Amino acid sequence: VFIAFEGGEGAGKSTQVGRLEAWLTGRGVPVRTTREPGATDLGGTVRSIVLDPANTGLSARAEALLYAADRAQHVHEVVAPALAAGQVVVTDRYVDSSLAYQGAGRSFDLAEIASISRWATEGLVPDLTVLLDLPPETGLARARGRAAADRLEGESVQFHQRVRDTFRALAAAEPDRYLVLDATADPDALAGAVAAGVGALLGE
Ligand code: C5P
Repeated sequence: VFIAFEGGEGAGKSTQVGRLEAWLTGRGVPVRTTREPGATDLGGTVRSIVLDPANTGLSARAEALLYAADRAQHVHEVVAPALAAGQVVVTDRYVDSSLAYQGAGRSFDLAEIASISRWATEGLVPDLTVLLDLPPETGLARARGRAAADRLEGESVQFHQRVRDTFRALAAAEPDRYLVLDATADPDALAGAVAAGVGALLGE
């Protein structure tokens, strides 16, 4: 079973990934948590390139291909082997982040970004995607307290609004495969809603 968490800056994805990991582990379910970008050695290098605010000369196309390379290695080295070993894989970001950030954010054709991602992942789609949805102003205010702040200043609220709109549109197009949650809610309530959704998926 493959579960992805998606959402904008400051949505609380890493908190909820950790909460879900604890919940699954407590029920004796083998779980592997992971993230993009940066889950492999190659991904770590990609992450340091794409998230370095000093890399102002990086072309948006090169950036999109670097995220795709990170994802290809992630699926090959981490996700597919863990799924094959029977683990529940929980990833913090996956294909939808590229559709939202490299597609809508950078204004590339979503179908082209989708096709690059499909190729990179050999078509591996999550069984469930949890979208932690919140207004960009709220998320940016939360995220500014962290190290990523410099980088975030380079992107407009409009950019983050397009990112949010894209996540929501992807979820609306496939309501059965998405769980959309209001990320401004209390973390305990969110963890409960995620556990209920994942429990249903696992047939509990
Ligand atoms: O989720 P995390 O905060 O680690 O992501 C780091 C940043 O990478 C995000 O804030 C986002 O701006 C960027 N990102 C991106 N495209 C992706 C994945 C992440 O632009 N496909």
